Amino acid sequence: MSKTISKQKVPARTGGMCASCGVCSSYCPAQIDIPAVIKIYREYLAGDTQTLKKLDEMESVGTPVDCIECGACSARCACGVDAAGIVRELAMMQSCRRTLMVSCGRKEVGI
Ligand code: SF4
Ligand code: SF4
Repeated sequence: MSKTISKQKVPARTGGMCASCGVCSSYCPAQIDIPAVIKIYREYLAGDTQTLKKLDEMESVGTPVDCIECGACSARCACGVDAAGIVRELAMMQSCRRTLMVSCGRKEVGI
């Protein structure tokens, strides 16, 4: 049985419906500033790959790599944003970026 669009979460590829209300972050056990993560994600999708370094400069206790994939953020979002999906994607990018920096022996990389 197929779901209607209205019952589906907005795809993780957009984040465009985020109102930056911060409700999701208040339920995040990893204490990640999710609106900030979504902002970085939008900048990345707009072509700014350098924005990914902001993930390691976030002021919140947690950053995307600390996500435990509980799904609480997506479940609480009244705007239907798949916040967990976005955080998961950026966690992979953040992790890859860190690995690249270690393997290249550099403090900065091109992404
Ligand atoms: S993802 Fe949803 S709950 Fe989180 S800040 Fe955006 S609109 Fe608010
Ligand atoms: S899925 Fe990740 S980002 Fe979302 S509430 Fe859970 S720990 Fe936080």
